[in-house]
Amino acid sequence: MENKVYGFVGLGNMGGPMAARLMAAGHALQVFDPNAAAVSEAVGRGAVAQPSPRAVGDACDVVFLSLPDGKVVQAVAGGTDGLAGASRARTVVDLSTIGPEAARGAFATLAASGIVYVDAPISGGVGGAVKGTLAVMVAAPRALYDELLPVLQTFGTGFYMGEEAGLAQVMKLANNLLSATAVAITAEAMAMGVKSGLDARTMIDVINAGSGRNSATVDKFPKAVLTGTFDVGFAAKLAHKDVRLCLAEAEAIGVPMMVGSAVREMLVATIAVCGPRADYSDVARVVEDWAGTKIRG
Ligand code: NAD
Repeated sequence: MENKVYGFVGLGNMGGPMAARLMAAGHALQVFDPNAAAVSEAVGRGAVAQPSPRAVGDACDVVFLSLPDGKVVQAVAGGTDGLAGASRARTVVDLSTIGPEAARGAFATLAASGIVYVDAPISGGVGGAVKGTLAVMVAAPRALYDELLPVLQTFGTGFYMGEEAGLAQVMKLANNLLSATAVAITAEAMAMGVKSGLDARTMIDVINAGSGRNSATVDKFPKAVLTGTFDVGFAAKLAHKDVRLCLAEAEAIGVPMMVGSAVREMLVATIAVCGPRADYSDVARVVEDWAGTKIRG
């Protein structure tokens, strides 16, 4: 993939920094996003703005997607001015979290136009996107994975999940179920501790030196809850989408998820109380309000 031309559709919280890393690694980039501010940021780093996903696909060999959900991926793949009609692109690498069913749908839409859809969701947050330390889970033909690996390593570490589109989504949903559960249960444990008189910072230090350590206590709570900034940079509505997709997949194949269902309802409550722009860490704000305490350090 050394001499390939790359494109990027979706320059949001994750796509913006990943596109910036590709350009910093010396790749010229063709980009599209309906958000003009996101496009001008990328153009400022040397990207070429295109008027549609199809125009991006006409101008490059491999198109990366970082989009909110399966509906948007389907529109970008097969809608009017979608990638399916592009003259040049033969590979679409979807870094979005959309669930296995939507991934299989996007695969079929693009396969009908001779384009290979690579299911490649990521984990590691905005910080990981900026630093290039994401986990990139990939389902694709093995030879294509091997070919793409050097460019995927611009974003972080690649993990091969298998050939069939959707498998990497299942991996991602399992991961995000754990991540969301950690946020919700950490909020409950921390609220109990501070309301009883413990110091929040000391609690985090003890948990991180002990068996309660998790991704919320190591990263999200110290950065966004103890500080009161509530700005993890991952929307609660996207976390809700992930847990909802996870529960749908589990139900479809007969895996009960009692704990996962409670976590989904915590995210529903967070969006209901804090609004559609709520941050992932706002789950803790809701628990704080219910408990009548503040988790600060
Ligand atoms: P975001 O909302 O910040 O970015 C999405 C971008 O897509 C926006 O810039 C938006 O303008 C653009 N977009 C919307 N409709 C479009 C269209 N029709 N055509 C082209 N672009 C369009 O979201 P994000 O946080 O960057 O997440 C992107 C994906 O990555 C999601 O699937 C999310 O679940 C996943 N993800 C996010 C994180 C995180 O921490 N933020 C971590 C891992 C995975």
